[in-house]
Amino acid sequence: MNDLAVFWGCTIPARFPFIEKSTRLVLGDMGVRVRELEGHTCCPEGVLVKPSSERAFYTAAARNLAIVEKAGLDVVTPCNGCYSTFKEVSSHLITHWRERDAINDRLSAEDLRYDGRLKVTHFAEWLTDGIGTGVVASRITRPLWGLRIAVHHGCHLLRPQPAVRWDDPLHPRKVEELVTALGARVVDYPTRMQCCGGALDRMGERESSLAFARRKLTDVQREEADALVVVCPSCFQQFDLNQAALQRAKEDVNVPVLYLSELVALSMGHEPEELGLDMHRVSVEPFLEKWGDRQADRVRLEAFFDVSLLGRCYACQACKDDCPVCKVDPSFQPTEIVGDLVRGHLDDVIAGGGLWKCLECYTCQELCHSRIGMAGTFRKLKELAMSAGSGPDPVSAAYRQFLEAGVLGKPKESARRKLGLDPLPPTGGDAVARLLSNEPEEER
Ligand code: SF4
Ligand code: SF4
Ligand code: SF4
Repeated sequence: MNDLAVFWGCTIPARFPFIEKSTRLVLGDMGVRVRELEGHTCCPEGVLVKPSSERAFYTAAARNLAIVEKAGLDVVTPCNGCYSTFKEVSSHLITHWRERDAINDRLSAEDLRYDGRLKVTHFAEWLTDGIGTGVVASRITRPLWGLRIAVHHGCHLLRPQPAVRWDDPLHPRKVEELVTALGARVVDYPTRMQCCGGALDRMGERESSLAFARRKLTDVQREEADALVVVCPSCFQQFDLNQAALQRAKEDVNVPVLYLSELVALSMGHEPEELGLDMHRVSVEPFLEKWGDRQADRVRLEAFFDVSLLGRCYACQACKDDCPVCKVDPSFQPTEIVGDLVRGHLDDVIAGGGLWKCLECYTCQELCHSRIGMAGTFRKLKELAMSAGSGPDPVSAAYRQFLEAGVLGKPKESARRKLGLDPLPPTGGDAVARLLSNEPEEER
């Protein structure tokens, strides 16, 4: 067991204990023993405390960190605000040593001292960089296969970069990679990097704050995401609680919101009731129902396809514009057909007919860095379409002719004679017809 201090902050225990529950479960599953430390206070919150007194801000934050340091531990926090405060304070007090000394003088009354030895990590950072996305993926028992997830990082997970250095502050990928590793498809949306706007609410600017929430939720909804995933309780508040307020005002927003640890815990096999997901203000039932449906779809697809390869292919999209067919007929988008399969629309794909535009030219396979390709998928889909009776007439007619004559075209004897070519020997069509007439019906 690896011992860690977890700094829950004020918001999670006070308002969202279900976030604490799922975070504790994931930490436990990953072999962490959470050491409970007495004496913590608010981190403190920078926007609310720092304008009144920088001294109070640095002293209170250093005191919180000194408690962890005294226990000889590192600290993980699931709150962006706490993370940002601690990162800023650590980075500031490393260089401003006179200020650190002055703070330590004050802390000595409680036999505390902050030297900056401990490591401060956000829960998302701990999962992706500390545990490793691959290790988390190896613990997944119920992948989020076929689900579309939008990610909201929240500003203080990534910025300011001089204090917080763990992912690109403008183009982050690590949380997305983790969500992809859980089996879901990450969807992009125009306001992905926009602040949640929740701080405006705390300043009494409720309408402006709701405008931020509305804008992002509308974007996410437009991309048909099944859920929005956040890594901060304040962002959760903005998108869950305040979305519920928008719903009460009859606004057309309905996006289930999940904290990252809830998503990970679900995919590791924990039940929604155990996690307290019914305590969210915006129901996560549509997400859970879709997840259940997708799991059933997956079982059905597994009878015909290597489903994990389909998922990887859909997530990749690298050769999406290289297919010679879609260059002349943009209505054929082979990766989107793979996406429809992953989303569980096997029957629609088979009945739709678009799959017959694949020429089985193997361009995608030759270009594919993973040697996955899509020709094999289309071949299998065509077989399924034929056995479901939804293949195109020319294919059925050609097969009938093949069964009867063993050839798909008769030699043009007059043209052959004109060119001095001898007549061809009789075909083996009758033999093929006899041969295949002995096959069971489903093999023919
Ligand atoms: S950032 Fe917010 S939740 Fe975290 S300790 Fe500070 S006030 Fe509390
Ligand atoms: S095999 Fe099919 S999907 Fe792949 S490039 Fe050729 S036509 Fe396109
Ligand atoms: S066939 Fe290969 S390159 Fe093309 S989208 Fe699929 S995995 Fe990516």
